[in-house]
Amino acid sequence: MKLENKVAVVTGAASGMGKSIAELYAREGAKVIVADLNLEGAEAVTEGIIAQGGTAKAVSANVANQEDVDAMIDAAVSEYGTLDILVNNAGIMDGFEAVGDIQDERWDMIFDVNTKGVMRAMRKAIPIFLEKEWGVIINIASTGGLNGAHAGAAYGASKHAVVGLTKNTGYMYAEKGIRCNAIAPGGVATNIASSMQGFNEFGASRTKAVQEVMPRIGRPDEIARVALFLASDESSFVNGTVIVADGGWTAA
Ligand code: NAD
Repeated sequence: MKLENKVAVVTGAASGMGKSIAELYAREGAKVIVADLNLEGAEAVTEGIIAQGGTAKAVSANVANQEDVDAMIDAAVSEYGTLDILVNNAGIMDGFEAVGDIQDERWDMIFDVNTKGVMRAMRKAIPIFLEKEWGVIINIASTGGLNGAHAGAAYGASKHAVVGLTKNTGYMYAEKGIRCNAIAPGGVATNIASSMQGFNEFGASRTKAVQEVMPRIGRPDEIARVALFLASDESSFVNGTVIVADGGWTAA
């Protein structure tokens, strides 16, 4: 097993990629804090992991709230004694609005969850990692965080910021044994991806156009396997970078 005795926190783990990552980590021997806004969903994931012989605990956590984030990381320490792996996966999507259509409230909400949520959790986890001179951080960005064509203005900008934050953190703490990388998934079949269709007419037509150049939609487990590589020692020299997992979409 690749993560035996490691302790992991996965945010947004009640559904989609976070759920797949939490389940795969548990199968590989990690003890997992399954954190999500949706406690009921997190508990269902936890029950599934335990039924398969794994170890997990559900925690209700809104990554837009520092107290919740602190309690989520504290839960790893109180429950399992430490923290080794932090996966910042929780995120929300804004459809395909260009900057001219963005409302302040929407912009702030997207940044508060997608970008500041990542910063909040890293800020709380870093002292634990520094103390043991070991730690792994994986941030779920997006191909929309690498180009201008795969997302709306707020979501794209929030994920570009996650990429920048990942590079900076990987660089800043490399000498202290902490690695920080991002994954940029392309279109993956999850709740977020299906809800994209429900936005305004422009968004729906843009979504259709985007999907026409997508080689195929990905599965959450295909992203989870990249997250396993980044969490394990197999990626010991991979730091401060982004792995694109999009089936070739950004090559279009
Ligand atoms: P999903 O909707 O299936 O899962 C997202 C989970 O995050 C949900 O369980 C939700 O309750 C939780 N969540 C939302 N806001 C939260 C908050 N404030 N605090 C805690 N939990 C919160 O979607 P997904 O596609 O699995 O999304 C996971 C990540 O992948 C997101 O960061 C998303 O931006 C990113 N992403 C998705 C795609 C895609 O096509 N699905 C592509 C690129 C990147």
